[in-house]
Amino acid sequence: MATKKHALTALIFAFCLSFGLNAFAGGAFYIYPQDTGGSPYKWDGGNIHWRSDAGNLSSNNGTVKIPGPTPDIYKSLCKTIADPCAQMDKCGAIMCVDFLFKRWATAQLVTAATDSPVKAAQINVTYDGMIDGNTDINAENYSTYKDQYNGLAEKGTITPILVIFDEDGSIIEAEAGPNQEKYLLGLTDPLRDPTLKTGFYTGGIMIFNGLFINGKLPNTSDSNDREPSLEVSNVKFASSMLHEIGHAMGLDHSQGLRAANGSSETGTDNPDGIPTMYPQLLNFDSTHEGAQYDLHTDDIVALASLYPTDYFINKFCTIRGELQHSNKDPYQGVNVITYSTDDDKFMDSRSFVSGSIYPPSTKNGQYVLNGIVPCKKYTIVYEAVWKNYQQWRGGINPYDGNMIGPDENDITSGVTITVGGYASDTAICNPNNLCDTTPIPATYSAKGQVINADPASSVPEATDSASDTGKKGWCMSIAGGFSPIWGLIVPALAICGFAARSAKQRKKKA
Ligand SMILES: [Zn+2]
Repeated sequence: MATKKHALTALIFAFCLSFGLNAFAGGAFYIYPQDTGGSPYKWDGGNIHWRSDAGNLSSNNGTVKIPGPTPDIYKSLCKTIADPCAQMDKCGAIMCVDFLFKRWATAQLVTAATDSPVKAAQINVTYDGMIDGNTDINAENYSTYKDQYNGLAEKGTITPILVIFDEDGSIIEAEAGPNQEKYLLGLTDPLRDPTLKTGFYTGGIMIFNGLFINGKLPNTSDSNDREPSLEVSNVKFASSMLHEIGHAMGLDHSQGLRAANGSSETGTDNPDGIPTMYPQLLNFDSTHEGAQYDLHTDDIVALASLYPTDYFINKFCTIRGELQHSNKDPYQGVNVITYSTDDDKFMDSRSFVSGSIYPPSTKNGQYVLNGIVPCKKYTIVYEAVWKNYQQWRGGINPYDGNMIGPDENDITSGVTITVGGYASDTAICNPNNLCDTTPIPATYSAKGQVINADPASSVPEATDSASDTGKKGWCMSIAGGFSPIWGLIVPALAICGFAARSAKQRKKKA
C-alpha cells in the first residue's frame, strides 16, 4: 500500500500574551485541571518543605556507610564542603539532599543583557527535620507513614515532602513491584488534594534506593538476592536524587536533542545535551560522569517556568506556537526544541513537547518555549519523542502509554527565527524591546514549515483511559546502556508507580 504523506504545519503565535500569566513550560508532572489541562501543578508560592527519615541510606557491613542524619562531628565541617554529596558517607544523606534541593532552587540563567547569571526560579526550600522521634522508616513501618501522609493530602493539608532512605530496597519493591529494586534508583510520588480543585501540591513522598551504593554485587548462587547488577558512584547516585527532587518540585521528564543520545534513547553521544530530567540515568564515560548531575539549561528553564523570578519574567522572551497536521488537526506529542545559533546547541537547548500540559484526549498541539534570550537567533527543531518514552507510562507527557506519536522518520524540518523587539516577531518579550541595538526583524514568516508525517504512525489516538492523565509516581531507572557486571539483563525501562495509591484515586474518581 502506498504511504500517503500528510503535511504538518507549524504555526507560531504572533499575538502578545502577558508572560506573567500562564508562564508554563518545560513539562509539568501533573496538569491542572486534570481533565482539560492548560496549567501545571506546582507548589503554592514556590514554598517547599521536606522532612527526612532518620535511618541510613546505605550500608556495607560497616565499611562504607551512608548515614541519614549528619553525624555531629561532621556537621560543621560538612557545611563548608562545596558538595556534601561527593562525600556522602561522611556528610550524610540529609546534607546531600539539602544541597540538591538548593541546587535547583539557586540555579541561574544569564541573558545577553547582563554579565553575571541570576537566580531563575523563585523557590523557597525548608528542611523541617527528621520524622517524629527520629524514626528510621523501613519496610515494617513504611505503610503507616504513607497512610498518614496520604490521609493528610486527602484532607488538603499541606505537608512536607517525606524523603525516605531505603537501605535494603524493600520500600521501592513494596511500591513498584517485585524485583524493581534492582532497577530503580529512586521513586517520587507528588501528593495532591484528591478533589483536584487547587492546582497546588499538598505533599510528596520520595524514596531513594541505597542498594545502588552499598558496595555489593549480586550473589549469583542465591536466587533471592535483591542486589542490582551494578553499583553507581556517589555522583551518579546524587544525579538520580537531583532528578527525583525535580519531580517533587513539579517537573516532568524531558528529552534533549536526539543527537545528544545518537542512535538510541540510551546513547550518550553528546553528554552536554542530556538534561537531569531525562527519563533515565545514562552511562557516560568517566569524564562525563556528572552530565546529569549538572542542571541543563532545559532543566533550569523548566523550573523557572513554574516558579519564575522577576528576572526570568522580565529579561527573557517566550516563543509560543502550535503544531498542526495538514488538515489543521493539532499535532500533540512532538518534542519542540530551540537553541540559539550563537551558542552550543547541546548546552543551550530548551524543549517542550507539544500539548504536554493537556490530556491526550484534547489533541492540543500548543507549545511554549521560555527562557529565550533577546536579540539572538534561534533555531526551532521538531523531533520525535523516543518510542520507549512514548510507550512507557512513566515516560514523557502527554504520552500516557496509549497515545501514539511520530517516530524519527516522520519529522524532518524546523525553522530559524530571530528574537528581536518587534511586536510582530514570533517571540514575545516583556518588555517588548530588550535589545541594546536596533532590533532585528523576524526572519520567519507565520506560514510555517511543512513537516512530513506518516499518518499511520503519527495521528494521536485518544483512548478511554486517556483522560486519566495523572501519573502515579515517577522513578529513575538505570539505562539499558549500563553494562551488567554479572551478566544479568538490565531492562531499558523499569516499571514505576505507587500502585496502592493509584487504586485509591481511581476508586474516588469512579
Ligand atoms: Zn523520572
